[in-house]
Amino acid sequence: MYQVPRGTSDILPEEQAYWRYVEQKVVNICQLYGYERLDSPVFEDTGLFTRSVGQGTDIVEKEMYTFTDKGGNKLTLRPEGTAPVCRAYLEHGMPNLPQPVKLYYYFIPVFRYERPQAGRYRQHYQFGFEAIGEDDPALDAEVIDMAWQFFLSLGLRHLSLQLNSIGCRQCRPIHLNALKDHYARHTAKLCADCKVRLERNPLRLLDCKKSSCQVVANSAPRSTDYLCPQCGAHFSRLKKYLDLLEIPFTLNHRLVRGLDYYTRTVFEIQPRGAGAQGTLGGGGRYDDLIEELGGKPTPAIGLAAGIERMVLNLKKQAIPVPPLPRPRVFIAHLGNEARDEAIKLASRLRRAGTGIIMATGQRSLKAQLRQANTAATRHAVIIGEQEVKTGTVILRDMANAQQKTVIPADLPGLLG
Ligand code: AMP
Repeated sequence: MYQVPRGTSDILPEEQAYWRYVEQKVVNICQLYGYERLDSPVFEDTGLFTRSVGQGTDIVEKEMYTFTDKGGNKLTLRPEGTAPVCRAYLEHGMPNLPQPVKLYYYFIPVFRYERPQAGRYRQHYQFGFEAIGEDDPALDAEVIDMAWQFFLSLGLRHLSLQLNSIGCRQCRPIHLNALKDHYARHTAKLCADCKVRLERNPLRLLDCKKSSCQVVANSAPRSTDYLCPQCGAHFSRLKKYLDLLEIPFTLNHRLVRGLDYYTRTVFEIQPRGAGAQGTLGGGGRYDDLIEELGGKPTPAIGLAAGIERMVLNLKKQAIPVPPLPRPRVFIAHLGNEARDEAIKLASRLRRAGTGIIMATGQRSLKAQLRQANTAATRHAVIIGEQEVKTGTVILRDMANAQQKTVIPADLPGLLG
């Protein structure tokens, strides 16, 4: 028998209440902060991601699902959500709209060829939002506030907000040089991956999870000590706004994020004690990305968050989610004529908006009521030969097994 491909999973009916709960909170928060929904294709030109996510990153180097289609086009299953939104922003003339343009996406499947483990899959789902066309740090604060309020609105508690600034095109190279000098003095302690990162993507040295590398990272030069005056002022104002908003944050000089396009503000929201592996969502500024993709210089900021991680944490924190609506009425029938009546009645009630589970096949009444029990309906409507003759039905309260004979026209009122 076939099984789902490694690192993917089915979202079974019993899981759906969690997913719909998250979805409803996503829609709420996006309306509250004035974001509009944008859906983009599951695959894009490969170049969009190599260009934006960055050549030296794990995603581009090792994790992309890339293929050539029958027309010879090189395509990649979306490994993240921001670059497609920026592509759409440029493609549909959104730079001409009043800025910032605020867009969100949700439940997009994201594909990364990673080593599967708890909370890490090869296909996972993300929700995210982007505010494009404004560099005011008040917008950074609003985006972080929105992310924070979103996770709180799910009912999640014990969260920590990690914050850093990694500077801009002007000041980042100076920090990177200091970083390289520092790491060059400690190469003997570095893992094989970090030795490569030192050459290709030094910023990523800081978030290596290996303990020997972490020791080197802890004493590494901090990006915030190298910020140019503009980036420094931007970061100070952001911190002031977060204080105004009473959002507690932890400065984390090792927070750099896994994609190359980030500039200035980067942040992550984690369940306290879970560390970076358990990150619920993260984001930051990407002030150079739109230009990199062929547009005019356009500052922007956004967040991406993993739905599976949210569901995991909702369960871990035992947060109850509302059950999904299901039919409250089961219709049982005995005999051919009764079945005809039952089919007509089910149709009438459904058209009037009452959810019905209809017995099928020719089972005994006992078996049909067992099915009603399993379906957990509130009522069963039973039609037998006698009821067909008298133009009535039996209404059974499934909780206490009390039954009464009623006429079908009275059912809508009685079913509540
Ligand atoms: P990233 O684009 O890497 O910043 O990811 C954004 C969010 O998506 C993370 O904070 C996680 O919640 C989630 N995420 C990233 N990669 C995976 C994965 N392989 N499996 C499940 N969730 C993931």
